[in-house]
Amino acid sequence: MIRDTEGLVVAGLAPPSMRATLDQVAARYAVAITPAIEALIQTPNDPIGRQFIPDPAELDHLPHELADPIGDEAHSPLPGLVHRYPDRVLLKPVLVCPVYCRFCFRREHVGPGSGAMTPTQIDAALAYIEQRPGISEVILTGGDPLMLASRRLADLLSRLRQIPHIDLLRLHSRVPIADPSRITPDLLEALGPVWLVIHANHAREFTQEATAALAQLHSAGASLLGQSVLLRGVNDSAQALESLFRAMLRARVKPYYLHQLDPAPGTARFHVPIEEGRRLLAELRGRVTGLAWPTYVLDIQGGHGKVPIGPDYLDADGVRDPSGQPHPLARGGTAV
Ligand code: SF4
Repeated sequence: MIRDTEGLVVAGLAPPSMRATLDQVAARYAVAITPAIEALIQTPNDPIGRQFIPDPAELDHLPHELADPIGDEAHSPLPGLVHRYPDRVLLKPVLVCPVYCRFCFRREHVGPGSGAMTPTQIDAALAYIEQRPGISEVILTGGDPLMLASRRLADLLSRLRQIPHIDLLRLHSRVPIADPSRITPDLLEALGPVWLVIHANHAREFTQEATAALAQLHSAGASLLGQSVLLRGVNDSAQALESLFRAMLRARVKPYYLHQLDPAPGTARFHVPIEEGRRLLAELRGRVTGLAWPTYVLDIQGGHGKVPIGPDYLDADGVRDPSGQPHPLARGGTAV
């Protein structure tokens, strides 16, 4: 397991000459690369290496970049709880992850020293949820909730299941991809029937081991969705996105969201403009099954919520087909 610059140099993922600069990056933003991910890195700048190997450019912060780009804090009534939409809350029981992504939108908050919610904070968050019958969904995120010990996770999920107005339990995780060995019988029993959103950005992340772990989760009753981030040098071509979404489907993971990169500090090297993202998705339309089509979304800065950002097929003149040809709409809304 690589956890520092020394580990990167020993693994041949960074030259010794960069050690001092990368130490500065690592002092600011956590570093971790699991053996499963390390095995996938062919060169430091390949689509896997770029996601996890720290880079001196992370020390360059641009004026528009924000420590909390999606505005969690503006909607956080209690530590570890975010209540942005009326029917759902985010709960962040831990702020540790199996790997630390260099483009993470919570990079200022996650890391090995960032700890977990205390029992008192968990009690307060659950009481908040209990008192609000309009909340029907709890989303466990972090950090990565599958980094919790199975017993603690089982206890938390069981307490949430006892709240009568909670219909949906959803967890967001990198673990089945980054450390499939954590998907143990204990963890499967702890989870039970939940919605599990798997974070993956490149087709090569769906290894045999990861796919086997996902199959076990599926058999244990988890409904699997995929979320990805559009990233320069990782998946910024129609071919790379097609391969990623097809790999997800083969692993029984329905592509759910493709996120526009949130402008967290030091992440500019991953930025792909929205117009380019819309073009890439338009290229996929008609070329891949609709099952392989995620919603391309943007989290509006300041905590104003997440919205789809296209591509669009309707305009004042009618509707465009997948090849881009316009067609007028007949009365009643049917294209002719
Ligand atoms: S796993 Fe998620 S929370 Fe953790 S570093 Fe990656 S993007 Fe951030």
